[in-house]
Amino acid sequence: MRYHEWQRKAGISRSREFERKGLASFAVNVGLKCGHDCLYCSTGAVLRTHPAFRELGESPFEHGYCIVDPSTPERVARDAQRTMQPGMVQLCTLTDAWAPEAKKHEIGRRCLEAILAQPGWSVRILTKNAAIVDDFDFIEQHRDRVLVGLSLTATCERNDVSKILEPNASDIQERMLAMVEAAARGLRVYGMLCPLLPGVAGCPEDVDTLIRFVTDCRAEEIFVEPVNARGPGLRHCQEALELWGHDAEARAIERVRTRKRWSRYVVDLTKTVQASVRGHFDIQKLRFLLYPSNLLPEHAGAIRNDDAGVVWLGKE
Ligand code: SF4
Repeated sequence: MRYHEWQRKAGISRSREFERKGLASFAVNVGLKCGHDCLYCSTGAVLRTHPAFRELGESPFEHGYCIVDPSTPERVARDAQRTMQPGMVQLCTLTDAWAPEAKKHEIGRRCLEAILAQPGWSVRILTKNAAIVDDFDFIEQHRDRVLVGLSLTATCERNDVSKILEPNASDIQERMLAMVEAAARGLRVYGMLCPLLPGVAGCPEDVDTLIRFVTDCRAEEIFVEPVNARGPGLRHCQEALELWGHDAEARAIERVRTRKRWSRYVVDLTKTVQASVRGHFDIQKLRFLLYPSNLLPEHAGAIRNDDAGVVWLGKE
């Protein structure tokens, strides 16, 4: 993993998009490229024009490197003090504050301390790293103001596939154990199942397992998102799975690289998740995040016929 540092300007930023998603009104990010290196990650597409990539000689769409900003907590502390109308901050929206390169500088914990030192702020943590457990002692002191979420993308049985797609994130079982510990300590917990890839975690049995697990962790809400088909992420996933001999999973991902098949996958996933949530949780607490612009009109219509739990995003 090639390691880069880059000083960003932002501390706590307003995020209308994450507000629409029902996640948070503000965002903190701790770098430009997350070292978990998930092959489907869409951050490279979002930040593709950032000058850091050119200056550092890296492509925003390639893998094997990270870009972290160890000075983030200072700017977060400044903004947490200055902002007149504080609210919920998501830590993070584009990178992961507990990825190895961020953990090395304790950036996640230092951002938490900076935000929670000021009144009125609350934090939604989203990570794929069980290292968050190290900070549960601090979170316990502010338990009403912090929501803990460990993104789950497969069941434990599919950990071999997850290790290919999310090479430097914690094992699925480690993430689940971290959620169990959060719940056992009485921390506020939410579910994040994102992305649920075809051939990896989209079938009814796997969705049921994941929904039941986060329900058992007393999740306040469950967010679910289909994979974003834009950019080279799906191709990278397919190629890596082929390389490691997971041909069935590679074919399932290859299929949704066309708009028509992606649109069908989203309809099926929506119905599967709704059925599972109705069976095991509370449909009022489902947030199925959906950008409809790539859906075929008939598929968008099929979802609209029963869009309980669907959060429609973007322009239609
Ligand atoms: S953990 Fe999130 S931000 Fe980090 S590489 Fe994976 S998808 Fe991207």
